[in-house]
Amino acid sequence: MWKKSIKDKALVSCGRKCCICHRFCGVKMELHHIVPESNGGKSTFENCIPLCFDCHADAGHYNPKHPKGTKYSPTELKKHRDNWYSAIRQLTAEEALRVEQAIKANIEVYEGQEIELIGFVWREAFPGPPNYESFETDSIETYWMFVLPEEIALFTSDLEYGGIFKIEGIKKLQLLVNPEFYKENKHIVLTNINIKGKLYCSRTGHHHGDALFEVISFATESLGGQI
Ligand SMILES: [Zn+2]
Repeated sequence: MWKKSIKDKALVSCGRKCCICHRFCGVKMELHHIVPESNGGKSTFENCIPLCFDCHADAGHYNPKHPKGTKYSPTELKKHRDNWYSAIRQLTAEEALRVEQAIKANIEVYEGQEIELIGFVWREAFPGPPNYESFETDSIETYWMFVLPEEIALFTSDLEYGGIFKIEGIKKLQLLVNPEFYKENKHIVLTNINIKGKLYCSRTGHHHGDALFEVISFATESLGGQI
């Protein structure tokens, strides 16, 4: 019998596609011993090949004395398996890269989703206490805003009434950082940086910009520095 951990690893490695005919099998998949148990083959990951029912039936008929057709040998099965696992690994990596690029290129982000954006850091003044209304009567507060080269859209859910909203035209983000961040990173003002964080929609009048951006880390484009 196969241990669950080996079974899981093998099924994920092949993407539940048969290692010989490459059909997607879903639940119609079996794990075959490359070297049969009757010949001392162990139930290890190394000796395991996931196959569809048809290929399993054929592989199971391995018998050098049998005159019909060209049977599968253990070494051939191993090669099929290794080639297929590496093809799946590559596909998975390409898919991940594609998703990452789609996010970078643009476009639609969910509230709280971790993303990486490139933009320009801009210091902007707003009326502060007591009324947050006018530069004449209120004190001035400054915030660091992050200006994107292209507009993006943010999906958010309505916490009170349910449902999902898409907020379009988001271009200027208010950076959510602690006071030390301002002191330590003055050099990034008026520069382009690559920033990683989470986007939230502005929910109160005290929030500025089109949305809020909670900073996780950033890298200056020229220096590659990290916080
Ligand atoms: Zn097959």
